[in-house]
Amino acid sequence: MKLICIGRNYTDHIKELENEKPTDPVVFLKPDTAILLKKQPFFIPEFSNDVHHEVEVLVKINRVGKYIDKKFAHKYYSEIGLGIDFTARDLQAQLKAKGLPWEKAKAFDGAAVIGNWLPKEDFKDLNNLDFSLKKNEEVVQQGNTGLMLWKIDEIIEYVSKYFTLKIGDVIFTGTPAGVGKVIANDKLKGYIEDKQLFSITVK
Ligand code: MG
Repeated sequence: MKLICIGRNYTDHIKELENEKPTDPVVFLKPDTAILLKKQPFFIPEFSNDVHHEVEVLVKINRVGKYIDKKFAHKYYSEIGLGIDFTARDLQAQLKAKGLPWEKAKAFDGAAVIGNWLPKEDFKDLNNLDFSLKKNEEVVQQGNTGLMLWKIDEIIEYVSKYFTLKIGDVIFTGTPAGVGKVIANDKLKGYIEDKQLFSITVK
């Protein structure tokens, strides 16, 4: 399986990193080895001094598809989740400056937190979901899927032009503002509305 990630999907986060607003979604992949194993702590890799949390709403693909029209995209997922796209910001800045791919900064082992899944029927409107990240019990990131530049069904339409979607693939839909550095012993908890979907410790 693969993890398909969208970058720069929230205007407020584009501003905080001083990035340009994209005309097409920014897409990158993480391999399955990036998934943080359940109940394991996240270890800050030795090659970075500035690993950031990026909390993101996740979508799990449940049918094989290619060139999926956004009108039919809702048939390709039944569960919604929440995760973290951990990013070695210092390394990413070096790679971006040289116009190089971001994988070393975003696809390293443990860089993808995938929390518990919930049936999409649990939510009235997937385009109006509040989600948040607490660091040491303080809310550090808050978002609403209504603020995404590309909504879930539009993301599926777009990425499926390039990649065949397979059962079990996970889409990371982008992060809102409030990204920040993690340090050893931080505790990160993620929520969609009032439901806690993950809790991890940083080492
Ligand atoms: Mg991200």
